[in-house]
Parts: sequence; C-alpha cells; structure tokens
Amino acid sequence: MSEKEILAQLIAMSRELGRPENDYVILGEGNTSAKIDEEHFFVKASGKYLADSDENTFVKVKLNGALAILDKDNLTDDQIKELLFAACADPDSSIRPSIETTFHAFLLSLPGVNFVGHTHPTPILAMMCSINAENIIRGRICPEEIVFCGPESVYVEYGDPGLALGKKIRESVYRYIDKHGCNPKVIYVQNHGLIALAGTADEVIAATAVACKAARALTGAMIFGGVRYLPEEDVERIYVRPDEAYRLEQLKRARNR
Ligand SMILES: [Zn+2]
Repeated sequence: MSEKEILAQLIAMSRELGRPENDYVILGEGNTSAKIDEEHFFVKASGKYLADSDENTFVKVKLNGALAILDKDNLTDDQIKELLFAACADPDSSIRPSIETTFHAFLLSLPGVNFVGHTHPTPILAMMCSINAENIIRGRICPEEIVFCGPESVYVEYGDPGLALGKKIRESVYRYIDKHGCNPKVIYVQNHGLIALAGTADEVIAATAVACKAARALTGAMIFGGVRYLPEEDVERIYVRPDEAYRLEQLKRARNR
C-alpha cells in the first residue's frame, strides 16, 4: 500500500470513529495512527477532531524517535512535546503530534499491527470509571467479542497521558504477548478509555464497535443480577489463533526487548 493509500484509510477510519452518533469521542478526544513503513507512522495532531479528519489532521513521525521517549524517565509534558516534535519527519510542520503518540509508536512497532484507534466511548468509560473496572472485563460474554476483541482484553491501570501511560501500556501488552503468544486486539485503560489495534483499519473499527456493544451488554447483565461469562474452553474453541510462524516472530521480539 502506498503512503497516500495508508493516509486515506487512516482518514476514513478516524472519521468513522469520530462520528457523533457512535458516542466514542467528543471535541478533540481520541487519537488514531497508522504504520507507513518500518521507520515511519502517521498520528493525529494535537487538538484535531477525529470527526473532521483530513490530510492535514495527521503528522508523519519517525518510529525510533518516538519509541526512544518510552525508555526515558521523569520527563515533563513540555520535554515530551519537544522530543515528539524532534521525531517529526517534517521539521517545518506547523502541527504537533498528540501527547499520546508514544503508545501509538509502541503498538505500531508490534509485528502485524498497522492501525491503532484510541477513543473514550461512554459505555466503556462507565465500566472503566467504576470500582469494578478490572474485574468486569475479565472474561468474554459472547462469540462476536471473542472473534473481534480476542480471547482476553488487556487492562491498564490509570497513568498520566504521555509517558506514564505509555510505559504501563507497554508493560501490560508484553505480559499479554508472553501469555497468549499473539497481540491483544483491545486495551482498556482505567478512568480513560479504549485502544483497538489491528492489521487493518476495518478491524480497528470492528473491535471498537464490538467492545462498546459488549460494554452495554455487561451493564445490562449487572442490572439483571450479575454477569455469566463464557467458560474458558468455549473461548479457546471459538478463538482463531494467528498462524504459528507469526506467533513465533512475536515471541522472539518480546524476548529480545
Ligand atoms: Zn485518551
């Protein structure tokens, strides 16, 4: 796929995630990204609205420059912004990458991940802001959720958007890869929102939609007296594993980190 085609797909995905009737984001909430090649990616610029995405909404960033920020400690927001700006492929760019760019860089560095969509959907926030946040997403409730959101979700405790959250996401995702031998499809962030990651833009859209539907179903199940999760053997049977070579490559990368 050419850089132009990747940008077109990212724009379409972002507009879909930003549609007001979806209730995934309002105003400038949320951010999206796409891998261009092994060295570059597009990410939403700070302050832009997903619903109005066009060619001027995204910044081209050097992957290694953004990844290196995650290995630093105790940076202020201004220092992160400076390093992110230095990682921009176009030094004359008038728009700046979102402060959450570091976790996009990390997720896009995983083999097989080409698109990332981060949103703040109200049904997900209702769960993530509850005292049962971690517990309620611990299982799967219907076959579609297993197919589109994977056998399990990643749960990440609250961290300041920017460096602290980026580090927590990296740690939790590596733990998931070690356990399952494949990438997660959805990440839930306490008191914050949802991240969907996938090979295609359509899969990101589907994972976000299904996660929101599951969140509404979970809310209803709680009202009806409690959630009946699917037994693990059913989840295992329904989940279609990625091919073996792909899984081995991921494990190798995870071990070399
Ligand atoms: Zn966010």
